[in-house]
Amino acid sequence: MSQWVYSFGGGKAEGASGMRDLLGGKGANLAEMANLGLPVPPGFTITTEVCTFFYDHGKSYPPDLAAAVEAALVEVGRLTGRSFGDEQNPLLVSVRSGARASMPGMMDTVLNLGLNDVTVLALAKSAGDERFAYDSYRRFIQMYSNVVLGIEHHHFEDILEHYKETKGFILDTDLAAEDWKKIIVDYKAKVEHALGKPFPQDPKEQLWGAIGAVFGSWMTARAISYRRLHDIPASWGTAVNVQAMVFGNMGETSATGVAFTRSPSTGAKELYGEFLINAQGEDVVAGIRTPQNITEAARINAVSDKPSMEVLLPEVFAEFMRTTNLLEKHYRDMQDMEFTVERGKLWMLQTRTGKRTGKAALRIAVEMANEGLITRDEAVSRVDPSSLDQLLHPMIDPEAALTVVAKGLPASPGAACGEIVFNSDEAEQMKTAGRKAILVRIETSPEDINGMHAAEGILTTRGGMTSHAAVVARGMGKPCVSGAGTLRIDYEKGTMTASGKVFKKGDMLTIDGGTGQVIQGAVQMQQPELSGEFGTLMQWADSVRRMGVRANAETPADARAARKFGAEGIGLSRTEHMFFAPERVVAVREMILADDEAGRRAALAKLLPMQRSDFAELFEIMAGLPVTIRLLDPPLHEFLPKTDAEIAEVAADLGISPDKLTRRANELHEFNPMLGFRGCRLAIAFPEIAEMQARAIFEGALEAQKRTGELTKPEIMVPLIATKAEFDIVKASIDKMAEAVRQETGQSVPYIVGTMIELPRACLRAGEIAETAEFFSFGTNDLTQTALGISRDDAGSFLGAYTAKGILPADPFVTIDQEGVGELVKIGIERGRKTRPDIKLGICGEHGGDPASIAFCEKVGLTYVSCSPFRVPIARLAAAQATLRLKAEGLA
Ligand code: PEP
Ligand code: MG
Repeated sequence: MSQWVYSFGGGKAEGASGMRDLLGGKGANLAEMANLGLPVPPGFTITTEVCTFFYDHGKSYPPDLAAAVEAALVEVGRLTGRSFGDEQNPLLVSVRSGARASMPGMMDTVLNLGLNDVTVLALAKSAGDERFAYDSYRRFIQMYSNVVLGIEHHHFEDILEHYKETKGFILDTDLAAEDWKKIIVDYKAKVEHALGKPFPQDPKEQLWGAIGAVFGSWMTARAISYRRLHDIPASWGTAVNVQAMVFGNMGETSATGVAFTRSPSTGAKELYGEFLINAQGEDVVAGIRTPQNITEAARINAVSDKPSMEVLLPEVFAEFMRTTNLLEKHYRDMQDMEFTVERGKLWMLQTRTGKRTGKAALRIAVEMANEGLITRDEAVSRVDPSSLDQLLHPMIDPEAALTVVAKGLPASPGAACGEIVFNSDEAEQMKTAGRKAILVRIETSPEDINGMHAAEGILTTRGGMTSHAAVVARGMGKPCVSGAGTLRIDYEKGTMTASGKVFKKGDMLTIDGGTGQVIQGAVQMQQPELSGEFGTLMQWADSVRRMGVRANAETPADARAARKFGAEGIGLSRTEHMFFAPERVVAVREMILADDEAGRRAALAKLLPMQRSDFAELFEIMAGLPVTIRLLDPPLHEFLPKTDAEIAEVAADLGISPDKLTRRANELHEFNPMLGFRGCRLAIAFPEIAEMQARAIFEGALEAQKRTGELTKPEIMVPLIATKAEFDIVKASIDKMAEAVRQETGQSVPYIVGTMIELPRACLRAGEIAETAEFFSFGTNDLTQTALGISRDDAGSFLGAYTAKGILPADPFVTIDQEGVGELVKIGIERGRKTRPDIKLGICGEHGGDPASIAFCEKVGLTYVSCSPFRVPIARLAAAQATLRLKAEGLA
């Protein structure tokens, strides 16, 4: 028989932090804190298995669950000296969801459960504070009605606002017990009107209602959408945590707050947190009142005139600091905690590993390793490679003139600019239309997840650093400015007013999530300098990683960026990118339009010096490192003009008739250009193109040698090989050119010739291709499109449906399809190695910069991965993590 319920409290627990699959993150850590002897209000966790049972059995519970909950409630009552439902001495509880991974899309919290028209009197008596009791009761009705009964929050807000207006009250604190009593009457009437039955008075009914709502929230559209974005399987289920209430709203020595053991934004080793005196948990997150700092240092830094917890409640503060230190040491990671102070007594309500920005993740990992709290390998494993993206985000150019129209909190770093939108749907539409949006909201809620994902950045007028917008944006690595309180947003009119200026939907706005600035218009951006910790972590990563990391680069700027980011060479230089510059494309077009070989050679002769200096510059920048240059790959019509106007202009430039140009373009037109006249097929039909490129490569290497003193050993790569015969023909003409250059210059350039493996046939025939090919580079972009028969240019229209339906686990053009494309790669490796055991094997498709695909590359034993320059740090870290993982699994 399964154990459905796990109790905790009174210095011990049935669960532990290792049981998060069963108890959810929150439940497992509450148990762990209780085991550590920390002050945790007693309670119990209903397991995730109950959630699975619930959905497997037509939304019903295991038959023995009720008795287990009953027994656990009795135990909580024993520990607190109260009894659930008792009219004289009632036990009140909170009910919270808690999945394995934190999930903002789900039901969050119901507080003060167990209150009704009778128990509220007992609460008033035991607290000696009638106002507090009725305030708690109305909060309970409001929260329960909202999250359990599905009545929208604003109905209750309207009642409260209306009441305050008629009485001339401004703040909630102006209301006395008698006022709350009247409001409760109105609240209950609202519920009865909406549901056709009264607000439930029976605490047991309330409790089961809340438990059902938690399980129900697992399958809401919001939760499903969040799971999809974060790859969380539906089968995990959520747990339910029921816990004795402690009150942060019992007067001036009571408080509630949230804190991180280190800054989630910068990673600095200083407690970062916010709290509110005389408040309940949701007040902090809702952003209705602006919270106060916990430490004095943070208060001074924030130039806040509201006293810190350190000054207001010094003893509680001291105990809190001891607790947070203990938790960080125990978990060996930065913790994100929730706490409540009830009349001077500290209670811990939650701890979990804190979400952090990429910058903070780096700093924390490096500093914790330097402190001896974790090993260097752990530090390397802890930083999510994709989060490094944030560090490489553009920042506002410090020289730019800024029209700052407002300032909010620097909630999530990076700068972003885009057109103003006021809701998530608009943000999504904007993204679909290929435009950039800044999502401007009073506050965000879990419904906004998709819109936040679609937007470049998020701006809110309400809420602190731990508000929904701030937390979610940091997790996504999106720039966010929160709590810009001087902004006025009018959703009805679709306007935002700032510094007396009125902004409309579509107006350009820039936000700086690092400083909190809100700036009119689009602003010049700049790449950031990478911090010292970045270099340190990269060094540690490099010292464990087995695979090499190269970059796909052809322009000097890209090559320089690649070196700066630590690329160990170039794995793919797409020479066609060098052909598009305006002064070159003319010669390229002449070559394409030439009637015969002589005409083509004449045009190619014009291109030769340009290609030679391209290659010389590339070799110079990459001096000492390997450079792979790929021969021309794309279909030729890509270089020809498309519209009539362009055709007329180009024809005039070339001194030919527009008709001739149109005719040639029509001849070159293809139904499936990706499967057409491209790749090595060009070199075979027009050998003079490959000859010119080979000559430019060898002469470029010699030219660079004159400048750097170092002779590069070019790796010349033939694209789109399907047969050994194709490769051999092209290789022969390269070899011939090498010999010609040697005879002309008296110098020989060392080089190797290899091939892209990007067609299924090439994988299958890799054994014989390796007889003459000296290296392979897997072109997984083309290999994916040819293996799946999905055009890489047209996949967008239906691939979303495929991943949504789970037909494919991820976009195969982003993360390698291990079962299919991966199998072909494995076959290629195996057969290639059999022929040539020391063959150099790389990957240069987009997958070379994707951490999950990099892990696959490590497993199958590739020599190196090659990716775009900005992804090089990500690849270095991902490759190191892949090595560590294999080691841990005993496979390396
Ligand atoms: C590939 O096909 O994976 C590749 C790297 O080449 P391209 O993207 O230029 O076709
Ligand atoms: Mg390709």
